[in-house]
Formats: sequence, C-alpha cells, structure tokens
Amino acid sequence: MDRREIAALLAYIGRLDPRSIRIDEGEARDQLAQWHELLGDVPMATSHGWDARVAARQHYRASPYQIQPADVVRPWESYRRNRLALHSDPTPSADPDDQPAWTAELVSTRRAVAAGIAQPAQARAITSSQEGINPRLQARLDQIGSCIPPAARAALAPFRPALAAREAAVAQGLPDALSVRCEWCLAPVGEPCRRRRIGPNDGVRAITPRTTPHPGRLDLAAQQAQQPALA
Ligand SMILES: [Zn+2]
Repeated sequence: MDRREIAALLAYIGRLDPRSIRIDEGEARDQLAQWHELLGDVPMATSHGWDARVAARQHYRASPYQIQPADVVRPWESYRRNRLALHSDPTPSADPDDQPAWTAELVSTRRAVAAGIAQPAQARAITSSQEGINPRLQARLDQIGSCIPPAARAALAPFRPALAAREAAVAQGLPDALSVRCEWCLAPVGEPCRRRRIGPNDGVRAITPRTTPHPGRLDLAAQQAQQPALA
C-alpha cells in the first residue's frame, strides 16, 4: 500500500472505530507514517480474494481492542501461506538446460501466486485436462516430440541401431516390425531380432541383437498393419 492507500485504509478504520481517529495533525501524520512503514509491502486488494479493509473489518468483528498494523499483516501472511500451500509448480516454459531461466520462472510464478496476482496452479493430474498446457511449453513439446532431445537421440543412434531403424521406419510410414513377435528368432514385441552364436558344445554362447529384423517379421508386421481389425 502506498501512502494514499494507507490513508484510505485509516479513514475506513476510523469509520469502524472512532477511537482510532487522530484529530491532531502531527499525530495523524505520525500514524500514517507508522502504518506505511509497517504495511508498505501489503497490497490493499488483489483480484483473488485479499482486501486489507476486510482484514480490518474482521478484526473489529472479533475484537474489542483498537486495531494495530499487525492485525492486518497477520491475515496477509496467512493468506500468502494458504495460497502457496495450494500451489504446485507448473512445468516452466523455459529451456530446461537453461538453469537460471528455469529457476527464475519457477520463482516468479510462486511470487505472483503468493502476492495474489496469479491463481495457484493445482496439481497437474487434476487440472491438466481442463486448463490445458502452457502454450509456450506445448510449442517446445511439439518441436521435440520426445523426452529425448533430437540432438541426444541422433548421438545415441549408433548405440541403438535396431531402435533407430525402427524410428526411421515409422517416420517413413513403413510397417513397424517390432510391433509383432518374430516367428523366426522368437524376439518378443518391442525387442529387436537376435542372432544366436552357437558354441562348440552346441550350447548357445551369446545372443546378439540384429540391426535389421528378420524378413518374415517385416511381412507379418505389414500384414497386421493392413488388417488391423483382424490382428
Ligand atoms: Zn527375428
């Protein structure tokens, strides 16, 4: 509250409790300076439920004593606490690799909620379907399309050739061989085909994944893609 708002609040309090009115000009100035010093960081009203006049009225509804600045500060602090307790940090729209920007966005959102400028963001699981997602964050998700950034995905490709080949096939609209079980090497759904290396004693010595699926598996996937209802 600036001095003008403090003066308005004191005028309102004077109507509720004439004892608080200072007739002497010097005393009135001191009272104004004291309240301004103690309530300078408390807003007069926010668009989300806080009003210093309501706090003053509540004081006189419940107490026979003259109001003190603390009687406004205390409700304001509990208003802030309640709002922060309701708030669950939404995912910032900043680049997660930009740590200062990410932190700054979290902090500024919390400050806005505490100060009554913004509404608390409720738990995502409850409200995500109603409020939708932050449009700037959605744009970032659309651009990346995965929790693995494109650059990291490209760097990893040599180490996961079968999965990289699968992603490439799906991107080109080709049948996804890994969506069916391989009848040849019995690789389950989602796992690449494999090659067994037989040791001298007829035992299986090692299983190495193949980069390309067995041809029969590709045919089977293509059949299933054409007849999804029968699959
Ligand atoms: Zn196979």
